[in-house]
Amino acid sequence: MKTIQVTAHGGPEVLKIVDLPIPEPAPHEVRLKVKAAALNHLDIWVRKGHPGLKVPLPFTPGSDLAGIVDAVGAGVTRHAPGDARVVYPATFCGQCEECLAGRENLCPEYHIFGENRPGGMAEYAIVPEACLFPKPRDMGWHEAAAFPLSWLTSWHMLIDKVSHKLDDWVLVQAAASGTGIAAVQIAQMHGLRVIATAGSEQKCAALREMGVKVVLNYRKDDLKKSVREATEGKGVRIAVDHVGEATFRQSLGALAKDGSLVTCGGSSGPKLSFDVRHLFIKHQRIIGSTMGTIPDFKGVLEGMNSGVLQPVVHKVFAPEDIAEAHREVEERRVIGKVVVAF
Ligand SMILES: [Zn+2]
Repeated sequence: MKTIQVTAHGGPEVLKIVDLPIPEPAPHEVRLKVKAAALNHLDIWVRKGHPGLKVPLPFTPGSDLAGIVDAVGAGVTRHAPGDARVVYPATFCGQCEECLAGRENLCPEYHIFGENRPGGMAEYAIVPEACLFPKPRDMGWHEAAAFPLSWLTSWHMLIDKVSHKLDDWVLVQAAASGTGIAAVQIAQMHGLRVIATAGSEQKCAALREMGVKVVLNYRKDDLKKSVREATEGKGVRIAVDHVGEATFRQSLGALAKDGSLVTCGGSSGPKLSFDVRHLFIKHQRIIGSTMGTIPDFKGVLEGMNSGVLQPVVHKVFAPEDIAEAHREVEERRVIGKVVVAF
């Protein structure tokens, strides 16, 4: 089967297409004929390599995938050949205290596809049955592959990690990214008002089309002033920041008293600094968050099925053009998600 692999850590040229045997599903596993897989910023880290992330090479990347059930292992009861499925993008033990409480992303055995276990950038993928869910009705394959990781991550940040009430203000940094668009839509779905930032006029226009109240080009607009004006001097209840070094201080500065900054990444750099006096005097919180739970994923699926949430596909690539697909993500040309169609 055609498989995309990271053969060494480095630039996009280390991505190769190799021919591997079609794998067989073990008990309680399903073999999926992959229709589409999407890229996340995680794919860039996995390809480049970094000290905290040990990946056995060669390695098959890809956290987001969708496809058709092709074969099932012994004991699988909820899926049959021919079923259209999307994948919750990580595996978990299902038996520990955290899993039993519906907090799968705190499971000690939590392994993200394409990071801590082989991913789905291949014609076929093996997936434990507990990770498979029906593809949203009327949704195309590209869209179905585009939403799992980003929408799951943003749902967990906005719904589990912070509290809010109707009409509260949320700042979403780098809002045209996959996680950003997901955060915008999930905030709007829950009656929150959004201030979004993006780095180009094209991205800003796309966000305005999504009905975002206040859209700022972070290369030229004054965020502090705009937040002050929009929120009548109070600041935002929540700031969603996955950019890290480049935006963190601004995000923190935009918070209202008792506000929360929730972060799921540091794509511009991981080291943050701030003045703790501002934090405690204003009763503010900085909250870390990664991935989301199965109940979160079900919430996302419901939103997708009802059409309130809609994945945005930026561009679709053939597997042979995977290097170009990586460049597209890495050079921040993307509005929404980059998808590879198999
Ligand atoms: Zn567990």
